[in-house]
Amino acid sequence: MIVPEDFAKNVLAGYGLPVPRGRPAETTAEVAQVAQELGGQCVVKALIPTGGRGKAGGVKLCRSVEQARQAADELLGNQLLGHTVNRVLVEEIIPLAGEMYAGVVANTATDKIDLVLSLAGGVDIENTAQNDQHSVYLLSLQPGDLLPVHRVRRWLGENKIDPGLLPELARTLVALYRAAADLDAILLEINPLAIGQDGRLILLDAKLEVDDNALSRHPELNNMFVASLSPRELRARKLGVSYVPLDGDIGVITSGAGLGMATLDLLQQRGLAPANFLDTGGGISEEMVKGAVELILEPPHIKGAIINLYGGINRMLEAAKGIIAALENIPGDRPLVVKILGNQQEEAWELLEPMPNVHVVRQVQTETAVDLLAQLLS
Ligand code: GDP
Ligand code: MN
Repeated sequence: MIVPEDFAKNVLAGYGLPVPRGRPAETTAEVAQVAQELGGQCVVKALIPTGGRGKAGGVKLCRSVEQARQAADELLGNQLLGHTVNRVLVEEIIPLAGEMYAGVVANTATDKIDLVLSLAGGVDIENTAQNDQHSVYLLSLQPGDLLPVHRVRRWLGENKIDPGLLPELARTLVALYRAAADLDAILLEINPLAIGQDGRLILLDAKLEVDDNALSRHPELNNMFVASLSPRELRARKLGVSYVPLDGDIGVITSGAGLGMATLDLLQQRGLAPANFLDTGGGISEEMVKGAVELILEPPHIKGAIINLYGGINRMLEAAKGIIAALENIPGDRPLVVKILGNQQEEAWELLEPMPNVHVVRQVQTETAVDLLAQLLS
């Protein structure tokens, strides 16, 4: 889950980290109100879950309440970088002396937590990192390691960081590392970690991505996550299946994420575009499969679907009953290719084969099922 910037900054402020004064707003009038409170001069930033807003015109420096109003009008309700801007963050302007980058990254390639520091931060960080490797410093830590301030100070000292900056920078990095660990962050990125003209550090931006699997440990984040789900995603959640909507028109249900990814790849290879990823995981029941089939087949733009299940412990007769129950509620003549193997496969095949529009594949290979669907749709 990508945590909105305003929420992330509030949490980080709780770790004693300095963030600009300000708050989010949803209407032009509210923006003007906050701008007024800040004395007129302010930054108005689009609150969308992506970076690169600065370059795309999503961060506006305003010199007056009137300019803040204008910025709000330009941003609110409009599209930016593929997102609709429903909220903006209105903050005090910080006069800058420099911009650094600080990140805490769960590195899945090395199973380490990487603390990353670049002395040249800001909107061009990607180019800086590519062109000048020496300006980027990396400290790799074992997950769960404590990070004492003296260790960070030594690390910064070895990398010839300005001694004037060193104590505050070390404290800041330690707090960021702790916050990232507490929050189960996959990524915590501060860019810019700004040096104000008063010489103090301040977090001008915060990108926080929390591991979805850890959300149950963070009730407030979990509530925010649930509130952000579409009705369809909510239904999938209630059914207990993993569901990701995609752009295509072929419904997909699989048991197991690996089988799911393989099925999506094969569909793409045959020129078919998946409308979703849906993995039942274990614990298949008639009710779950019924709900899942309804979920993927309901949208009228769906041309057909593939159900690719393997039953070890899961009983496939339950799955077959679920498919039939769902088809009773969903009219239409779109082809449904069903490949069911494993526990109770024969019983499942016998139940499904008489169904109109259901095409049972008894072969082992997913290719066979995908080819059949492609042929039925051509
Ligand atoms: P991003 O482009 O999506 O990462 O958005 P940021 O919040 O990082 O803003 C982009 C850039 O706007 C920053 O790198 C700063 O250069 C600038 N910026 C943002 N807030 C302030 C501010 O309060 N004062 C000043 N001077 N510049 C700011
Ligand atoms: Mn940024």
